[in-house]
Amino acid sequence: MEFIRVFIKVKGIVQGVGFRPFVYNLAIENNLNGYVNNSSEGVLIDIEGNNESIEAFLNTLKVSPPPLSKIDSIEVVKLIFNNYSSFTIEKSLAQLDKITLISPDIALCKDCRKDILNKDNRRYKYPFTNCTNCGPRFSIIHNIPYDRKYTTMKNFKMCPECEKEYTSPDNRRFHAQPNACSICGPKIYVEDFKGSSLSEVDPLDFTREKLLEGYIFAIKGLTGFHLVCDGRNFASIESLRERKKRSDKPFAIMVKDLETAKSLCHISKMEEEILLSKERPILLLNIKDTCPLPSNIAPYQKTLGIMLPYTPFQELLFKDNLDVLIMTSANLSGLPLEYTNEKAKENLKDIVDYFLFHNRDIYIPLDDSVGKVLDDKFMLIRRARGYVPAPIKYTINNNILAAGSNMKNTFSIAKEDFIFVSQHTGDLQNIETLNHYKWNIDHFKKVFLFNPEIIAYDMHPNYLSSEFALEGYEGVKRFPVQHHHAHIVSSMVENNIDEPVLGIAYDGTGYGDDGKLWGGEILYSTLKDYKRLAHLEYIKMPGGEKAILEPWRMAVSYIYKYVSNSNNVLEALYDSNYKVIIKMLQANINSPETSSIGRLFDAVSSIIGIRNNISYEGQASIELESTIQKINDDTYGYELIESNPCQIINPEKLINELVQDKLNNKSKSYMACKFHNTVVNFTVELIEIFSKATGINKICLGGGVFQNSYLLLKLKKELEHHEFDVYTNSLIPINDGGISLGQLVIAEKSLLKVK
Ligand code: ZN
Ligand code: ZN
Ligand code: FE
Repeated sequence: MEFIRVFIKVKGIVQGVGFRPFVYNLAIENNLNGYVNNSSEGVLIDIEGNNESIEAFLNTLKVSPPPLSKIDSIEVVKLIFNNYSSFTIEKSLAQLDKITLISPDIALCKDCRKDILNKDNRRYKYPFTNCTNCGPRFSIIHNIPYDRKYTTMKNFKMCPECEKEYTSPDNRRFHAQPNACSICGPKIYVEDFKGSSLSEVDPLDFTREKLLEGYIFAIKGLTGFHLVCDGRNFASIESLRERKKRSDKPFAIMVKDLETAKSLCHISKMEEEILLSKERPILLLNIKDTCPLPSNIAPYQKTLGIMLPYTPFQELLFKDNLDVLIMTSANLSGLPLEYTNEKAKENLKDIVDYFLFHNRDIYIPLDDSVGKVLDDKFMLIRRARGYVPAPIKYTINNNILAAGSNMKNTFSIAKEDFIFVSQHTGDLQNIETLNHYKWNIDHFKKVFLFNPEIIAYDMHPNYLSSEFALEGYEGVKRFPVQHHHAHIVSSMVENNIDEPVLGIAYDGTGYGDDGKLWGGEILYSTLKDYKRLAHLEYIKMPGGEKAILEPWRMAVSYIYKYVSNSNNVLEALYDSNYKVIIKMLQANINSPETSSIGRLFDAVSSIIGIRNNISYEGQASIELESTIQKINDDTYGYELIESNPCQIINPEKLINELVQDKLNNKSKSYMACKFHNTVVNFTVELIEIFSKATGINKICLGGGVFQNSYLLLKLKKELEHHEFDVYTNSLIPINDGGISLGQLVIAEKSLLKVK
C-alpha cells in the first residue's frame, strides 16, 4: 500500500457553507491526516494517507460536496510526505487581494424545520434557527472574511450549548456563523403602530390572532420588512391598498405549503421544484378557475405570485385557517425597501396596525426574487434574495463597474473570472433610491475588494445612474453604452455566445444614438458593436413621460397619424380631451418621437378599451396580454418599408384594421390576440430578411416587453419553426435588470486590455 500526500485547492462558493467540517469528517472517515483551512482563494486541504483512501476522499469531494457549496475547480498537487499525526481544522489565513465568494441567503433547511417543530428539541419554536445549510448570509455580512464578528450577529454571544455546536466538527452547526438559540440569540417582539410595546403577549400567537382578525402588520423578515395581512380577507387587502396607495398592482402571497399553493394555481413539476428550492423565489403561476382568493390580490391578472415560507418565523406563523398571507415588500411608493427597525417605525406607521420586529440587524436589504417558468425554462424577472451575490463565470480583463439602467436598476462589477450582478435596487428616481444605490455599490466594492478602472453607463442623459457614472470616482475611464445593445448582449453573455447575432429588442424606453427614444429595434449585434437594421416607425409621444402614464395619449397619437378620418374615430372612442392632444401633436409641443413597441402595446390596450390610464409600470400591456382568453390565428396588416439606413415597420394597416374591429364590436380577447399575432408576424418576416442577408441564424431577445409570456412564447415557437436558434435571458432579468451585465461586457470588449 502506497502512502502519499496531496495538496488540494477547492475554489467556488466554499465558505460559510459547512465545507471545512465536511472535509474534516471525510478525512476522519478515511483515516487521513493533515489539515484544512479557509483562504480568500478558497478551501485549502493538505492531506496524507494511503492511496486508496485519498482516492475515496477526492471522489466524495467531487461527487457529493455540502449542499450549499458550488465548486468551480479542484486543483490537486502531490507533495513530499510530511507524516502528520492527526487531522485538524486550522484558523483562516489572512486574505490576499483575492475575491471571496459569499453565499446568498438560504431558506430554512429540512433539518432545522424539524428542530423548530419538535417539542423535545431545544430550538422548538425558535424563529432564528439556522445551520451551515441554511439561514442568513449575504444580508448580514458587513465585511470579509465571513466570520461572526463581521456579521450583524457579532452582538450576540453564544451560550455554552451553541458554542459547543459551533466548535464541534461533527455538528451540523459547526462554524455556522449565525448560530443561535432562544437563550443567546435574537428575539421577536411586537409593537403597535404608535410605538407602544406589547411585552405581555406571545409575539407569535398575537401576530397570528391579529392577522386573522384582519389587522395589517409590518413584519421584519430575513432580508427586509414585509407588509402582511390575511390573504383570504378582502377587506384587509382593500385597506392595505388604500393605505399604501397602491390601487391595482398585484400583491405577492405566501402560502402555508405546497398543497395550499396547488389548490390555488396550476403547478408543474418544475415549478414545484422552484417553489421548494433553497432560493424560494416568488413564482408567477397560472391561477385556477376555482381559486377562491379575493380578486383584489391581483386584479385583471391570469397569474398569481406565490412563495413558500423560507424563514423559521414564517414556518411557525402559518396554522390551520391562516394559510394564505399577503406578503409584499414594505416600502413607500418609489422608495427603497425598509430594513431597519427605526426607519420602518417612522415610515410605515400610517400603513400598519402592528409591527413584528426582531433585533438581528439586516445589513444589506434584498427584495424577494420573482420568476416564472416559460416553456420549461426558468426566467427571473427580479433577481435578489437567494440568488445574489452568486456570480456569473466570465473572464474579464478590466476592473469594470456597470452602472445599469434607471428603472429596475441593478449594477454589475467584474473581477478575476467573475461578474457579480447586484440585487434589484429599484427605480432610481429620487435621492433616497440614489443614495441606497451608491451605498450598495460601496458595499460590493468592500466585500469583493474591488476598485473600478472603467465605468460603463447608459447613454440616456437624464438617468441618475448615468449622472452617477459621469461624476463618481476620479481617474476612471467612462464608457457610454446604448440601451438596447446592452439588452441583447446581456442575453448573449448568459447564453455564452460570442459570434454575431440578430437581436430583437422590444422595450418600453431606451435612449437611441440619434437622440430619440428607441424600443422596437432589430439589431445586428456583436459583444462589441451593433448596427440598427430595422425599427418601428417613429411616432410622437404627446406629453413625453405623461404619455407613458396615460396610454390613451398614445392611442390618440397613433389614430391621428394613421387613420384618415381620425376625428370621427376619436370622437367615437374618446371624450373631447383628445382635441388637446391633437393640438399638442400639431404644434409639436413636448412630443418626443419614439420607436417603442411598449408604447404601441399601450396604444392598442387603450383603443381596445382595456386601459386608458395606468397606476403601475406596464399595466396597460400586462392587461392587454391577460385579456387573451381564446386564442385565434388572425392577424392585422403591416408594411415593411425599405429605407436608409434601416427598414421601417409601418403599422398603418394594423391601426386601421384594429379601429375597424373595435367599431364593429369585436371581442377584446379576439383583438388582443390578433394584435399579438401581428407583432410576431412582422418580427419573423424581418428576421428572415436579415438572416438571408447576413447568414446569421442565432437570434437573441431582450427588453421588458418580452415579460409578455404570450408574445415571447409565440415568437420563439415561430422562429424555431423557421429553424432559427432563439436565446433569452434566464437567471438575469430580460428587463432592465439585465442592462448592467450587457453594459459591462460591451465595455470590456471595446476597451480590451489583455493582462
Ligand atoms: Zn438548517
Ligand atoms: Zn444559544
Ligand atoms: Fe430596457
